[in-house]
Amino acid sequence: MILRLVLGDQLNEKHSWFQKVDSNVLYLFQEVRSETDYVVHHIQKVVGIFLGMRHLAQHLKEKGHRVEYLKITDSNQQSTFVSNIEKIVKEYSIHQIEYQEPDEFRVDEDLKSLKSLGLEVKMVSAEHFLTNRSDLKEMFVGKKTYLMESFYRKMRVKWNVLVDENGQPLEGKWNFDHDNRKKWDPKRAVPPPFEFAHDARSLLEELELAKVKTMGQINPSCSVWPINRTEALQVFHYFLEWLLPLFGDFQDSMVQNERFLFHSRISFALNVKMLHPLEVIQAVERAYQEGVVKINQAEGFIRQILGWREFVRGIYWAEMPQYAKLNHFNHKNPLPDFFWTGKTDLNCLSQSIGQSLDHAYAHHIQRLMIIGNYALISGIDPDEVDRWYLGVYIDAFEWVELPNTRGMSQFADGGKLATKPYASSANYIQKMSNYCQHCKYNPKEKLGPNACPFNQKYWDFIGRNADAFRKNPRMSMMVKLWEKQNQNNLSS
Ligand SMILES: Cc1cc2nc3c(=O)[nH]c(=O)nc-3n(C[C@H](O)[C@H](O)[C@H](O)COP(=O)(O)OP(=O)(O)OC[C@H]3O[C@@H](n4cnc5c(N)ncnc54)[C@H](O)[C@@H]3O)c2cc1C
Ligand code: SF4
Repeated sequence: MILRLVLGDQLNEKHSWFQKVDSNVLYLFQEVRSETDYVVHHIQKVVGIFLGMRHLAQHLKEKGHRVEYLKITDSNQQSTFVSNIEKIVKEYSIHQIEYQEPDEFRVDEDLKSLKSLGLEVKMVSAEHFLTNRSDLKEMFVGKKTYLMESFYRKMRVKWNVLVDENGQPLEGKWNFDHDNRKKWDPKRAVPPPFEFAHDARSLLEELELAKVKTMGQINPSCSVWPINRTEALQVFHYFLEWLLPLFGDFQDSMVQNERFLFHSRISFALNVKMLHPLEVIQAVERAYQEGVVKINQAEGFIRQILGWREFVRGIYWAEMPQYAKLNHFNHKNPLPDFFWTGKTDLNCLSQSIGQSLDHAYAHHIQRLMIIGNYALISGIDPDEVDRWYLGVYIDAFEWVELPNTRGMSQFADGGKLATKPYASSANYIQKMSNYCQHCKYNPKEKLGPNACPFNQKYWDFIGRNADAFRKNPRMSMMVKLWEKQNQNNLSS
């Protein structure tokens, strides 16, 4: 008999494994402590994954497949993937084990040890990503940094997306970012999020019984996160119809009490493989071809998936495991307590962290330019920042969380991923959000009791790294400004 493992982020009912029923194949789903406990996860993330696993297992059984499902509370649970497998192998006289390529280094290493069971072990493709693990490394061999823009252009040609028959970009440009990112229009109404009635009550009781430690809030009967492909497609189609036409315009806006704006919220469905990236990309390309959206909206969205998502995955596999230890600035400060409560009088942080804890979601700019920016300029230890990001978001899996957090947001890799640190004073936050209008601090002031703490921390960050930043053409201007401010302060 063949044992096939289905991991919690491999909920792809379209995988070729499931296309034929074979009574000699047993599918194994496991809710294991090693996965619930490697970091403190948001409760909505644990519930979303376990409900998704339970749904797929049930769906496969109904189709006639043989399925073994280990719940978190089962008394015969062994608490790790490998120890459970050892037990099942004996119970069912298994002669071969198969698993889909895992996305995370931790699980990859763990499953390699299955070889010691002395059976045939086969790793197959997860049939999801648009690049192989090693493609990016090979593309940038001998280079010190990775360049997203050149990677993205190659991907556009490779997958024939928004290019003409000569491999040139449609409408003459590869990147239409310049036409996106408009200032927020307060008269704009944001469509309400698409929601599902899910009954999570019995699972929540089981998690409590098993004493799984989690963070954040959950509504036990209603969720915005899909738990199967049908629901994932509903979220995506809702995005196509109601949100995509304004996605690019307000991609970087941040608005008081608006948690989703025009973002798609498909990252969870993509990362657990309920949706395939190419079907999403091609649907958005079609919307452009049919004249539903302009090229700047379509290209801006496609770049996130065909470009950034595959790019960060390539960096993860090129740089692990050492990447997880990098700390370029040698930052050592602890994570402030308000990361766990959202209770702070810095309104932008209270809004962004508060909604992360309440909804397991913040959009890209909140993650990068509010929370990540604060952690960076405050000199917080990237290990602590990583642990928080890896736990709090519904879509957080290490292959995508780590390069975004440690690389893009904390610049802890010294610039392998980003050409400059994403650091800013209150100036940027005031420009891109209305948070400052509801804050006790003044974004214009640098000194005094009402001065915005982002200003003092930002200039302190520039000052303590002035020597290094002078050599970076994208940062040297800020060092000059910092020097000028110091001279003015001395002479006044
Ligand atoms: C510090 C930090 C940590 C992050 N951690 C994660 C994470 O753990 N998991 C995760 O999926 N994304 C992460 N991102 C990327 C991005 O913020 C989320 O993918 C996005 O906010 C998800 O919401 P959405 O589906 O509404 O995205 P949209 O804004 O609608 O974008 C569409 C899709 O593009 C993809 N995408 C966009 N930006 C990125 C990016 N930088 N890297 C990879 N994919 C991207 C996602 O699949 C997303 O669903 C992080 C970004 C930062 C700055
Ligand atoms: S004034 Fe400063 S702390 Fe307050 S919302 Fe603006 S940037 Fe954030």
